[in-house]
Amino acid sequence: MTKISFFGGVNEIGGNKILIQDRSGDASVFLDFGMNFARHGMYFEEFIQPRTSNGIVDYLDMGLLPRVDGIYRHDLLEFAGMPKHGDPIADAIILSHAHLDHAGHIAFIDERVPIYCSELTHAILKVLHETQSRSIDSEVIDFKKRPLHNSRDEPVRRDFRLVKKEFKVNGISIEMIPVDHSVPGACGMIIRTSDQTIAYSGDLRLHGTHGHLTQEFVERLAVEKPDIFLCEGTRIDQADKHGEAYVKVNSDKAIAGTKGLVTADYAWKDTTRFKTFFDIAKDTGRRFCISFREAYYIRELSKFIPDLPDINDDNILLYQRKQKTGTYKDTDYDKEEREFLNMKNTVRADYVNKHQDEIVMELSYFGLPELIDLKPNPGSLYIKSASEAFNEEQEFDLERLKRWLGHFKMEYANFHASGHAPQEDLKKVMEGSNAKKIVPIHTDHPELFPQVVKTGARIELPTASY
Ligand SMILES: [Zn+2]
Ligand SMILES: [Zn+2]
Repeated sequence: MTKISFFGGVNEIGGNKILIQDRSGDASVFLDFGMNFARHGMYFEEFIQPRTSNGIVDYLDMGLLPRVDGIYRHDLLEFAGMPKHGDPIADAIILSHAHLDHAGHIAFIDERVPIYCSELTHAILKVLHETQSRSIDSEVIDFKKRPLHNSRDEPVRRDFRLVKKEFKVNGISIEMIPVDHSVPGACGMIIRTSDQTIAYSGDLRLHGTHGHLTQEFVERLAVEKPDIFLCEGTRIDQADKHGEAYVKVNSDKAIAGTKGLVTADYAWKDTTRFKTFFDIAKDTGRRFCISFREAYYIRELSKFIPDLPDINDDNILLYQRKQKTGTYKDTDYDKEEREFLNMKNTVRADYVNKHQDEIVMELSYFGLPELIDLKPNPGSLYIKSASEAFNEEQEFDLERLKRWLGHFKMEYANFHASGHAPQEDLKKVMEGSNAKKIVPIHTDHPELFPQVVKTGARIELPTASY
């Protein structure tokens, strides 16, 4: 029998690391190798982080990475005084999408294991690599061997293989099928071993702008009748199915009554939400002012996504925030940012302040101190386009955010559309799949699955192998 082992994503949202081993023993693949945010948050926060100086040890000891032989980088194992392996236990890692809870811990993987993913997923990981400073757990595209004695050492490049549809890894065939999620390039999969057909949802939703993709994935599954469907259930306990139209209509309405600045706080990797706020700005007679990071990302992704606007578009402004010396000197900015400095639509805080009635500004929670320079007029509006607080830490963040808004006499609104299907749609996905067996993953509530799925499919709760 094909063996499926779960090294993450069991009774928790994210951190998926699912090993599929064919019964013939000569082929095995990992589906995703993501970072476990929940586990990370149990021990670490902004100012308590795993020590880079201790290589992989902090990650293994605190359970952020599973103890599994034959998968981690030799330089890290040697650094930790741990035994090294011969051939890696997996022939490939296949990424469903670029979110860190699915792709983040590729950084620790033996570089002999090739990474298969969609072209867009690779493009996103590449932008993250180019716009972030290097740290041991962000070295997905390439990495420097540890211990790092010389920071100018040449990095080791990972073997990424960009796949379109169907491909084979030894005896296992994999079909990548695009689905709709809050990051572009997301895929579900059908994996065929010598004796099983396994479907994997990745993360998905039906209610998004490209929900038809998820619908087509389900229709493919219905024909395939998979033996096993590994299905996400992030929002199996939730009902709301607000889509982009909800964000757009409500934001349009709220902005119509706003004199002063409008700011939008959303996940910057979500190109759909970017486009929604771009449209909102245009339709409310404003221009969309974005960070250099977002500009870089949109420029790179617009090579693959035709409906994204050009960053030179008349309706886009690029925001040059103060860095290092605080005097807007060219040398204050990173190499990737410098190219934006002389663009005709680049503006600074004083411009935004003077034209605040004409601007919707991308501003995240971590960017709140910019308000001190932007000086929004009383009655300006902060739109949070992300889920409201769902744990204690986020409650504190929300209280802090509201104090900032109180200080500047700004209004607060929350208009969000989730990247994950709610219960009613998960039911449609699972019942429509014609799967013989469904295994709940990526969920805090696996116990709800049997109550939701009313067809003959057997629900089997997974057991963690870590
Ligand atoms: Zn996820
Ligand atoms: Zn995701």
